[in-house]
Amino acid sequence: MKKPLIGLILPAYTNPNPECSHTRQLISTAYIRAIEAGGGTPLAIPSLRCAEDIDPLLNLCDGFLLPGGIDVDPRLYGENPHALLDCVNLATDQAEIRLISHAKTCGKPILAICRGIQILNVALGGTLYQDLSLRDTKPMLHSQNQSRDYPIHQVTIEQDSHLASILRTTQTYTNSLHHQCIKDCAPELRVVATTTDGVPEAAESTDGRWIAVQWHPEELLQTVPCMVGLFEDLVRKASV
Ligand code: MN
Repeated sequence: MKKPLIGLILPAYTNPNPECSHTRQLISTAYIRAIEAGGGTPLAIPSLRCAEDIDPLLNLCDGFLLPGGIDVDPRLYGENPHALLDCVNLATDQAEIRLISHAKTCGKPILAICRGIQILNVALGGTLYQDLSLRDTKPMLHSQNQSRDYPIHQVTIEQDSHLASILRTTQTYTNSLHHQCIKDCAPELRVVATTTDGVPEAAESTDGRWIAVQWHPEELLQTVPCMVGLFEDLVRKASV
């Protein structure tokens, strides 16, 4: 049987070191390995000058992964840049918004990770906190100092969610490598997991075709083995 093709946009990255400041489009190997572990074949899609030029590549894909990365440009949810905003790249944002719109039209599944939950929420009409310190509640540590495979904080998952069925649990520990989070959840999404400080850690669509997590499951395949379920679920939905 042909393995489903899982598309992801290659994010543009400019090295801040002026000695080697050329821009590259890069993706961490952990995403590639996790898609393979789930039974799919990854297809990397470059961000092109003209966003609609990626359409023939989107058409090839059976499902999509929205990876982690830099901040979403706040103009996309009607805000000016706050002093605590980190790097942004509007071209990558626009390519991913095009991908989300294609997935919506064609009914293709999406697994969104870290920045992915943020761009998915914004693309569907939601907003973000530009920094966790801007919330009313003082946040716990969400930018861990440990290695990326270290599950640092506990997450509580709604029992009646697709996510709880996929992970087969309502309590798990996850890694945490983010300084932003969902503020207003988009109408088509529902927040289904939080940390005890109330930070949204996962969201999903009613039909479960879009699953979005604020943590990095691709880094947890060894330390939190149930996380491979997210990639298997994406590939299973992409197969039908
Ligand atoms: Mn977190």
